[in-house]
Amino acid sequence: MEIAGLPIPPDLAAGYARRGITELYPPQAACVEAGLFSGKNLLIAIPTASGKTLVAEMAMHHQVKRGGKCLYIVPLRALASEKFEEFSGKGLRVGIATGDFDRRDDYLGRNDIIVATSEKVDSLLRNRTPWLSEISLLVLDEVHLIDDPSRGATLEMVIAKLRHKNPEIQLIALSATIGNPQDLAGWLDAELVESDWRPVDLREGVFLQDCIRFADHDRQVERRSKYEDLDLVLDTVAEGGQCLVFVSSRKNAEAFAKRAASGLKLANPVLAGYADKLRSNAATEMGRMLAACVAQGAAFHHAGLAREERQIVEAGFREGHIKVIASTPTLAAGLNLPARRVIVRDYLRFNAGEGMVPIPVREYRQMAGRAGRPHLDPYGEAVMIAKSEEMVDELFACYIEAAAEDVRSRCADEAVLCTHILSLIATGFARERDEVLGFMDGTFYAHQGESPLALKRAVQRALEFLREAEMITEVGEWLEPTEYGSLVSRLYIDPRSAEVIVKAMIGLGRKEYTEIGLLHLLCSTPDMPTLFVRRDDMYLLDRFLADHRDELWTEIPWDAGEGFDRSLKTALLLADWADEIGEDAICERYSVGPGDVYGMVESVAWLVHGARHLAGLFAPHLVRPIEEMELRAKHGIKKELLPLIRIRGIGRVRARRLFNNGIDSVEALRAAGPEKVGKILGQGIAARIFEQVEGTREEVGEVAEEQSTLSRFG
Ligand code: ADP
Repeated sequence: MEIAGLPIPPDLAAGYARRGITELYPPQAACVEAGLFSGKNLLIAIPTASGKTLVAEMAMHHQVKRGGKCLYIVPLRALASEKFEEFSGKGLRVGIATGDFDRRDDYLGRNDIIVATSEKVDSLLRNRTPWLSEISLLVLDEVHLIDDPSRGATLEMVIAKLRHKNPEIQLIALSATIGNPQDLAGWLDAELVESDWRPVDLREGVFLQDCIRFADHDRQVERRSKYEDLDLVLDTVAEGGQCLVFVSSRKNAEAFAKRAASGLKLANPVLAGYADKLRSNAATEMGRMLAACVAQGAAFHHAGLAREERQIVEAGFREGHIKVIASTPTLAAGLNLPARRVIVRDYLRFNAGEGMVPIPVREYRQMAGRAGRPHLDPYGEAVMIAKSEEMVDELFACYIEAAAEDVRSRCADEAVLCTHILSLIATGFARERDEVLGFMDGTFYAHQGESPLALKRAVQRALEFLREAEMITEVGEWLEPTEYGSLVSRLYIDPRSAEVIVKAMIGLGRKEYTEIGLLHLLCSTPDMPTLFVRRDDMYLLDRFLADHRDELWTEIPWDAGEGFDRSLKTALLLADWADEIGEDAICERYSVGPGDVYGMVESVAWLVHGARHLAGLFAPHLVRPIEEMELRAKHGIKKELLPLIRIRGIGRVRARRLFNNGIDSVEALRAAGPEKVGKILGQGIAARIFEQVEGTREEVGEVAEEQSTLSRFG
């Protein structure tokens, strides 16, 4: 099917033509035939790189041409930026919304396309953002993530709410291969477009000894080292390709990258350039190790990396200079980096409470789907590694030839129900018990015919919790949010977290505010991800408790177990961060990477923000110190740097440098003048700073407000 004949703006079609895209791929043509341009809901379940995003983009342009507005929901913040970039510069106004969960972001409504994470859309709904009712096309990227245990329920509820608000809305749901696409399509009232067509041929096989067994042929691999996984990499590189290697843990990713680097031993000026850049930014041992690997053409990629490190690795791979990336499977979903050969080296993964368990088929497919770069590779290969003949058969049966798992609803989970039911009541979606149940009837859970009794019981228990916590009242048939309940819903924190915080604040009595008390309290809430505790950490925790036990706001439970240790360790890390301990020292002391530190800082800063508002309602004397902590936690600074951090372009390092040179406030900065500041920070930065501070004081204040709100989810 020719693109020129489709009802899309000519400029868009011309832009595609310039990139060599003139004809639709077969599954794309099937989408058009299924009613893409006539308002039909579609569930598009086709492999990675077979053109889903392009289909959605065409539908959005078509919709806007007819006066509509589009919302594109993605599961991860990193994907939001990627899609935002992709849709921008093609004639439509595109906006992105990922953070700041208690804002309505009215200005975003000016856009034709808004890209947002599901958490952000949920928070916009809670804050009654007016432009949401103007949305006429809703695109759901990676909709199979409804199945995600921690975040799936939010996506499901967001879909249900948006459809409830506007039953006419057109839905385009994009999905990886799943076992029960008919179920999902049925719930969405969507036509199903299903296909396993791929733009590049994908060969899937299992490696044993020196041979890859494919379904219809074998391929010999030259033994060049004593490691099978390394031989698979060297083989691909020798014939001009690149490799992605999926392993089960960060440690394994780092170890494999080291092994691959010494096997490849590449050296060229481009790699040396990447390595220099990585080395000069490296704040940790891990960063220096990454630089050393990249210098030889290999890299690792996991959530512990700092953002710049990830960007350098991805760019180096995309440009073809880095030949192999060893990555953890959690990144398979977000990493848009195709390679000639994908090696799924570890198919077992550690799950807390379960030990080593086999990865799901869907995850295997997601990884295997990265094999083969369209227009660049003649084919893609996905290879698993077996230790015996028997295992070859098992891997074929359990992964290569297996059907992907069914997607199941997660929204009857009691813990997540509290949050969502509170928001239904707080935003007026449901005003009576029956309306809550009626709304839940529209969920995928109910559509799947799961036990209605179980759902009813879970709803009842959630309502009970909310009533006892005084977040809602029930008068006769009527459910009403209290001021507290409305606030919790708008702040976008788990009602159970709010209860932990409020109870501790009220119970403080005459106890004083302490920094570690607040941080530890927040780290004890279900909203806060906490650090794993190793035996070596116990010394640190015990020493802290020996000296500072009184500073904690909560009693130490007599049966304090892992949960307590984890929250204390996390709080100590954050206290170190707010005490300006260097990143390198923090990473070493707590065995984490810079990426983890930023993740925790973001989460806690959001909770401090929530705690400040809750204090306004229940413990006004705590508002001021918590407000200070909000900025300190976000930026990682001691109290004395607060006046300087309010200036845009000044972070923890520059503020400290100014302070140590006797400049401790905006007034002192003005008095010092651009020349002196330039000597401390560099002329360019000084000039930008003085452009701001030479305005009025109020302007500087506004910048601070702008900086003080933070986002939480990936
Ligand atoms: P998906 O969202 O399924 O992963 P994309 O829409 O991102 O796939 O497409 C993958 C790549 O293929 C992109 O570079 C895109 O520009 C290109 N592409 C998409 N459709 C076509 C087409 N009909 N012809 C040629 N290239 C295409």
